[in-house]
Amino acid sequence: MEPVVVIGAGPSGLAAAYELATHSTPVVLLEQLPQVGGLSRTLQKDGARFDVGPHRFFTKNTEVFDLWKNLLQEDLLSVPRLTRIFYNKKFFYYPLAPMNALFGVGPLEAGQIFLSYFSNRVKERFSPTQPVSFEDWVVSQFGRRLFEIFFKTYTEKVWGIPCTQIGADWAGQRIKGLSLWTAFVNSVFKPQGNKIKSLVDEFVFPRLGAGMFYETMARHIEQHGGKILLGRTVTGFRHEGDRIRSVVARNGDGSTEEIEGSAFLTSAPLTENVMGFLPQAPPEVMTAAQGLRYRSHVGVDLIVEGNPFPDNWIYVHSREVNLARVANYRNFSAAMAPDERRTPITVEYFCFPGDAIMSRSDEELVELAKTEMHRMKVMKPDQVLSGFVLRNEKAYPVIELGYETHMNVLRRYIGQFRNFQPIGRCGMFRYNNQDHAIVTGLLAARNLLGSKYDVWSVNIEAEYHESGEVPPLNQSH
Ligand SMILES: Cc1cc2nc3c(=O)[nH]c(=O)nc-3n(C[C@H](O)[C@H](O)[C@H](O)COP(=O)(O)OP(=O)(O)OC[C@H]3O[C@@H](n4cnc5c(N)ncnc54)[C@H](O)[C@@H]3O)c2cc1C
Repeated sequence: MEPVVVIGAGPSGLAAAYELATHSTPVVLLEQLPQVGGLSRTLQKDGARFDVGPHRFFTKNTEVFDLWKNLLQEDLLSVPRLTRIFYNKKFFYYPLAPMNALFGVGPLEAGQIFLSYFSNRVKERFSPTQPVSFEDWVVSQFGRRLFEIFFKTYTEKVWGIPCTQIGADWAGQRIKGLSLWTAFVNSVFKPQGNKIKSLVDEFVFPRLGAGMFYETMARHIEQHGGKILLGRTVTGFRHEGDRIRSVVARNGDGSTEEIEGSAFLTSAPLTENVMGFLPQAPPEVMTAAQGLRYRSHVGVDLIVEGNPFPDNWIYVHSREVNLARVANYRNFSAAMAPDERRTPITVEYFCFPGDAIMSRSDEELVELAKTEMHRMKVMKPDQVLSGFVLRNEKAYPVIELGYETHMNVLRRYIGQFRNFQPIGRCGMFRYNNQDHAIVTGLLAARNLLGSKYDVWSVNIEAEYHESGEVPPLNQSH
């Protein structure tokens, strides 16, 4: 029996292979990197552990939570959340705490924030508008003043495009259910059973970093007969009629091999998958694939003396520095630090391939991170003991206005192949977190075991990230 071929050993690919191997279905997992975990992997350097930026484990899906718990057992820690925003040389608690925000911005600015919020609510009441962009959406929930202080700069640092060009559905995914009023009420009254994700002040986390969960999953797959081949980059999908026959994979030594399969689940970027179809996809499909963009993540990983700040991570909204966020892994799990004296941190930059940040050398980036952290007065340059750079070119699918038109073309095209299912974040071009990626992998695998799930409907309501529930794992009708 030909195996199922899964591409990418990130959360979605591993979840798919896990489900198939558990049900004794032959599966081969192909991963281009030398380790598993994808964007959720953990790197080890000089005794320290670094994730690809902060990776909190949070889900409302009980099946995913049980999977984390069952595979990690006592290695799944419960971590208190402290996250702050750095703006105008001051720190603000995130989620916003009114007294802290009031003292931070000053009473005059605070008054303007509330005035702008209420005037916007009145305007919306008499002439309601449908938000099109991220900016429209946030202004409608928080007012223009707060948007300009707390949302605009950070969002534009992350995405590299104006907030007017980012689709409102991205805001819906990230911060739905949270308005200025809700933030205020929550921080004053701290209601029980709070359902809003941005306000959750505890999360779970694997003791040795996010990747620990995926390494455990990989061991389970191999113990159940699944094959994981690292250092294999899939460059082509050979198809015939309505089926994919095989993939072409490039090995580390430059040689290629062709691997046949009964079905193909792929978490490699959707655009790359489609552009690698053999025979080639029609010109309009290739054009649509070229119309979608990804944002890159550049992590400057530093080992620093002492523990420079108490947060799990800090959002950096100030324009004076290029860095957008900084993560402190000791504050996730002390076991990620090499010893008592030293702390691993990641200074995070977001960019497009080839732009000013991406084109700097590793040494220049380490220097930039040191200088900028010093400018923020978070730590001194001589606290940095060592540093290296980790670049992930396709880290964030860019949900910009008009992207759906391209997506529709791509989905129509791949929809004709009966044994091909894209899964995960870049595979489905969705702004998904780990739990969603895992759910897409599980469901796609279950489709091969006889179920009928609509994998695209996971997260389709843009419901989950900051409020509602992950869709239950019901079958579609
Ligand atoms: C900076 C940052 C912070 C994040 N923070 C959080 C967080 O706090 N909480 C959370 O839940 N999620 C977080 N995420 C999201 C999380 O990392 C992703 O949702 C998750 O890793 C997606 O899993 P995936 O399997 O879909 O894709 P990926 O993790 O991207 O895995 C895809 C895999 O496919 C491999 N691959 C790609 N192309 C090929 C090819 N041609 N051939 C072979 N292999 C290939 C890649 O090397 C990779 O290993 C964060 C992401 C980033 C970038």
